[in-house]
Amino acid sequence: MRRFLHYCWALFLAGSGNLWWAKRNLRQQGAVVVLMLHRVLSAKSANVTNSSLDMVVLRETFRALVDYLRRHCEVVRLGDARPGLAGSRLMSVLTFDDGWSDNYSEVFAPLKAANLPFTIFICPAVMSSEMPFWPERATWVLRKAEPNLEPSQINSVIEALKGLWPAARDQHIARLAQAFHLEDDSFRSEIDRTLPWVEVTEMQAAGVQFGSHTCRHSIVTSIPMSELRRDLKDSKVAIEGNLLGECVAFSYPNGNWSQEARQAVAARGRFVMAVSGGHTPWVMLRALADEDVPWASVHIVQVDERVAPRGDADRNLTHLRASLLEHAPLPAAQIYAMPVEIPDLQSAAAKYDAELKSIAGTPPVLDLVHLGLGPDGHTASLVPGDPVLDVTDRDVAVTGVYQGRNRLTLTYPVINRARLILWLVTGIEKVPMYKRLQAGDQSIPAGRVLQNNAVLLADRSAAGERAGEGERETA
Ligand SMILES: [Zn+2]
Repeated sequence: MRRFLHYCWALFLAGSGNLWWAKRNLRQQGAVVVLMLHRVLSAKSANVTNSSLDMVVLRETFRALVDYLRRHCEVVRLGDARPGLAGSRLMSVLTFDDGWSDNYSEVFAPLKAANLPFTIFICPAVMSSEMPFWPERATWVLRKAEPNLEPSQINSVIEALKGLWPAARDQHIARLAQAFHLEDDSFRSEIDRTLPWVEVTEMQAAGVQFGSHTCRHSIVTSIPMSELRRDLKDSKVAIEGNLLGECVAFSYPNGNWSQEARQAVAARGRFVMAVSGGHTPWVMLRALADEDVPWASVHIVQVDERVAPRGDADRNLTHLRASLLEHAPLPAAQIYAMPVEIPDLQSAAAKYDAELKSIAGTPPVLDLVHLGLGPDGHTASLVPGDPVLDVTDRDVAVTGVYQGRNRLTLTYPVINRARLILWLVTGIEKVPMYKRLQAGDQSIPAGRVLQNNAVLLADRSAAGERAGEGERETA
């Protein structure tokens, strides 16, 4: 009956022109419609699956959906969706939760043929597993115990089981199975199987994106935070160990989330720091190298770099490497050099822009950006009067010649998106600019960096204090 009413409602929307109107409205707002699917099955498989039919789209319906998306929507990769840009076609993102084997057998080929990108969220601890999730197991037991149960009756048992702690729930299902003499290994089901890695690898090679859905589908709000942090890290490491590139997408099992859980997801088990050039940071990095830092999780990118040959004393990279690699167990591959040796500087900037995405997500969110301040008010290589100051559509750009060299630099958008900005200002020649920076003077390049997530460290001479004026800290 409910299904019939849904059908009538859809017919009404389409027939009255309201569907067209709603779609146009969304398109004009620059909305991104995220279609979250789980499974696609043939009618025959849908008859025997233990998954709730709410999670299943029939093969024919899916083919029709693909055709519709191809003709009427702009389907983009999850990371490329930019809400707020009104386009000529409605923007849409296509995702699949859980990592069911039918994502390969039923979904992959039609979407590949239609050239539509999509993302699958997998649980790496239960890959290639037959009946890996408890709702299917519970349904299987219930059906064996009572073959005439209505789907709505099964659903209400599943809903009740959702309220229990995982251990208690598993115990209930096991007891029920025992009561009906059902052996544990008879849970096997070819239809309710998750993807094996070999299929995941093949799909990734063809451009399919994979994200984490926790290790084994834990509801993130019902496990302790310490367990969640471990799970997030383990699931990410497992996915990255099996696939190429960083796992930057996450989907909350069952859709449950909390503010705290969101922060844990955002932290994602790595620390990405952008470092500026100059003498002061070398001293800072040298000191940092002696600290107890989990270097295996630290990734260093460059704030800016002069266009000069490899190994040149003018290159910030040369000093960055010398300060860190020789003194700290930081893996060399975790310092990401701006590719200034590429003759076409625009493509060098684009290459680094893409590299930032692979390290820190799309758009890249850096954990820390370290900045200095020049006597002329520049920061990074955002120098007074250079058109680079107005770049807002890229995270890495090329500057004009400044102090004898072109440079690559991070731009305001990526700097201002950082979780923390650390200013390090030293020397008496910085006094006037230090004061203007503190006052938020937007007429100097440094003044246009947002201050809400910034910490400003200055020595006494830069802060304009005379020696012996007391032990006041400037921050
Ligand atoms: Zn799920």
